[in-house]
Amino acid sequence: MKQTIYTCLVAFLISCGSENKELSENNNAIEEEMTIENVMEPANGDEIILSSERPSGTINEDVQMEGSDATVQSGKGAINPINLGNVEDIDKYLIGNLEFHKDDKFAKIPSNLSSKSIYVRKETLNAFQEMAKHAEKDGIKLTVISGARNFNHQKSIWERKWNSSNIKDPVARAKDILRYSSMPMTSRHHWGTDIDINSLQNSYFESGKGLKEYQWLVENGPKYGFCQVYTDKKEKNRKGYEMEKWHWSYMPLASQLLSQYKKDLSYDQIAGFEGSEVAKELDVINVYVGGIADCK
Ligand SMILES: [Zn+2]
Repeated sequence: MKQTIYTCLVAFLISCGSENKELSENNNAIEEEMTIENVMEPANGDEIILSSERPSGTINEDVQMEGSDATVQSGKGAINPINLGNVEDIDKYLIGNLEFHKDDKFAKIPSNLSSKSIYVRKETLNAFQEMAKHAEKDGIKLTVISGARNFNHQKSIWERKWNSSNIKDPVARAKDILRYSSMPMTSRHHWGTDIDINSLQNSYFESGKGLKEYQWLVENGPKYGFCQVYTDKKEKNRKGYEMEKWHWSYMPLASQLLSQYKKDLSYDQIAGFEGSEVAKELDVINVYVGGIADCK
């Protein structure tokens, strides 16, 4: 497959058989969606998508990976291993040191599937769109209310909570915030693989419409590679964050990013925000980044 991709890349402008045609069409579809977004949404700072920044007709490896229908049909495991490359890349993709609208591994979620301007990795978007289509047929509406957040975004969330807390002891203060919010550099939301769906309240998913949506996600999410990583800690004997019924992770990519994270990130690197000095004492890498359900 990989060899075919590279062969196709070289010969792209000439001709490369049906597989390449399919990939090319998928790329066009994404470009078109992004262009439509551009026209429909007012230009407001970070939220702009500069689809024109990418030369038309360019196929990058990510689009090729998500282009195959097999990716969606077979769910997790169908994505080729990603090569995160050098330290610069690790900085970018593991700790959110980037601007999503300028990175061609990311795409904006169409407005009919999101509550505001939200970016995720293209592979995540592709799988979510297929899942949302299936949900709609079953009378379930899935809307992404949060997706990729970069370092600065997470820092602003964290520091707002840090500075408004009345807990004096820094370790206890961090622990309290860490019930539901991540320290910058340790959030799965940096990766573009994790999304929050429909509501940020567990109670919403416990009755009526919310319960139906949650039950649908539990049953069908895994078919598309999505898993609720922050499950009930009592049932699953899991450490770290409290249960989040809204937070779903696209595991084919996220599990690779997690193992890369564990290999490459050290406490020396977790810095640059208030309270970062307690990261090591709280063992945030093992307890929080590593404290997920057994999603495989
Ligand atoms: Zn979340």
